[in-house]
Amino acid sequence: MAVKYPYEYDPEKRRIAKIYTKTKIVNGIFNSMLLPIVFYVVLLYSGISLDIRDLSLAWGGVFYVPLYIVIFLTMITAVQLPLSFYSEFVYEHKYGLSNQNVRAWLKDFFKELALSYVISVPILTGLYVLIGMTPLWYVYAALIYICLTAFFDYIYPIVIFPIFYKTKPFEDEGMRKKIFDILDKMGVKNIKRIDVACESEKSNKANACFAGIGGSKRIILFDTLVSGFTADEVETVVAHELGHYVHKDILRFTVIESLKIVPVFLVIIAVFERFSSMFGIGGVSDIAGLPLLLLVSSAIEIVLMGPMMAYSRKREKAADIFALEATGKVDAQVSCEKRLCDMNLSDDSAHPLVEYFLFSHPCAEKRIEYALEWGRENKD
Ligand SMILES: [Zn+2]
Repeated sequence: MAVKYPYEYDPEKRRIAKIYTKTKIVNGIFNSMLLPIVFYVVLLYSGISLDIRDLSLAWGGVFYVPLYIVIFLTMITAVQLPLSFYSEFVYEHKYGLSNQNVRAWLKDFFKELALSYVISVPILTGLYVLIGMTPLWYVYAALIYICLTAFFDYIYPIVIFPIFYKTKPFEDEGMRKKIFDILDKMGVKNIKRIDVACESEKSNKANACFAGIGGSKRIILFDTLVSGFTADEVETVVAHELGHYVHKDILRFTVIESLKIVPVFLVIIAVFERFSSMFGIGGVSDIAGLPLLLLVSSAIEIVLMGPMMAYSRKREKAADIFALEATGKVDAQVSCEKRLCDMNLSDDSAHPLVEYFLFSHPCAEKRIEYALEWGRENKD
């Protein structure tokens, strides 16, 4: 099917996008922020956390820490499951965004759950071992965090991504050549591989990313992007992702996160000194204090959310400008932005406060505005 170009907004989709985005935001705040906080508080005040620790000690012996973590993860997942199902399945179907049946959704859900056990249980157990070993545990935790991030960046496209997506090498020769031409033009020599991921069996949303470090580096294009967009539009999306790559944005966020670790843990230690006895917890090294540890870190995350999102939007704008400089294709970038916005039912002009606290990307209205402005300033 021929792809309409240049794409113009569908007014009906713009109307629906407002409702869709609002509901998704409210749901997200409730299920990912408020519900876990309530869960942590209930566990602390009711003494349930102490009971889980004692039960883990009785059943798990020396393995009581990982056992506590498994029980804890299972409980919070169960608490979040109903709304997750509503938001990611029922609601997505209501707006025709999901192509999954219940079975496929549950399959993905359990894969994610298994992965969270495989990753979180050893990492959290390691953290508690570290706390018991040295008073400077938080310094080591920050260093280990950097190593783990590099490790996960490396294995992500080879191990984790294929758990959720069928991938195959991208074979469209014409498009491949265009992409490698941009990489050449921008002086990027070490990316040799482009993969296509089968998103269409899951949803109608389109995306692309650069993934991996060292030998695992590659570009991943969703098949929804390849089939639903013009070659020029795909080029601008790839150029945008290339912008993140050239600007080393993943590294920037890793450094920020690792710099946050030491002060966050110092706050956690201070809170534990003041409050842990109130809940019968034996200090920061006591696994029964995990809900308190997570409560404090969630509170810090919420406080830092605005500035972090503002920084993210700044990096996104830089990647957009990079794409304009790499391709010079203002019209394609604008058309692509509108098409993506309609496809993903994103709100193109959210309230400034909502955008400030919650949006990792600038609203489409702004992205289009500065693309056009770049076009006017860089005519010919
Ligand atoms: Zn981006």
